[in-house]
Amino acid sequence: MIYEIFNFFLPNECLICRTYLPQGRQILCAECHESLPIATEEEKERQFNKAFRTSDIENFESLYSFTKNSALQDLVHELKYNQRFTFGKFLGKCVAEELRTKLNEWNIDCLLPIPLHHVKRSERGYNQAYYIAKGLSESFSIPVDTNLIKRVRFTQTQTALNSEQRKLNVMDAFRINKKKKIKIKTVALIDDVITTGSTMKECARILKSAGVEKIYAISVGLA
Ligand SMILES: [Zn+2]
Repeated sequence: MIYEIFNFFLPNECLICRTYLPQGRQILCAECHESLPIATEEEKERQFNKAFRTSDIENFESLYSFTKNSALQDLVHELKYNQRFTFGKFLGKCVAEELRTKLNEWNIDCLLPIPLHHVKRSERGYNQAYYIAKGLSESFSIPVDTNLIKRVRFTQTQTALNSEQRKLNVMDAFRINKKKKIKIKTVALIDDVITTGSTMKECARILKSAGVEKIYAISVGLA
């Protein structure tokens, strides 16, 4: 009954194909969910060699292969710009379920959503990566830390930049919150999509220099 009333005001339909979802399903119908392209081991290896091999990132995981004009892009867009927080948690949970074994092996102490600059955060009102981290956190019982690193420089959006420009764009953009004594050994940085990995790498560099032993990266999509 409550479900029926709720459904009347806020129709629970699949974000992609708009069919009504049965009770207990959220955001995507089973078919659309299965149609999201899982990133292959080859893609991930290629990305690791290209972006992370010589960085402070120990290893990384992305669940989906992120392509332009895809359903996944719609989901991430809704999460980032239309306040659809539940999508973030949903995507975080998807990552957790699919990659559970691997993520368990990493023994992560805490999850760090890549911070937004406070100006950008107040414009948008929230950090989308936080909700992805929340979804992961609920599935793994690993805490989310939003205080350890902060973004101190306002960086321009990276979409039109190449790999070298992105590296310069994020250089010294982050700082460790010195008021917090670092006792954490292993962290996982969380973001929606990994493209060149420059933001992740810069965060990792700062964390490593502050004494964090192992830094992993997790994203929903791999571009
Ligand atoms: Zn659907």
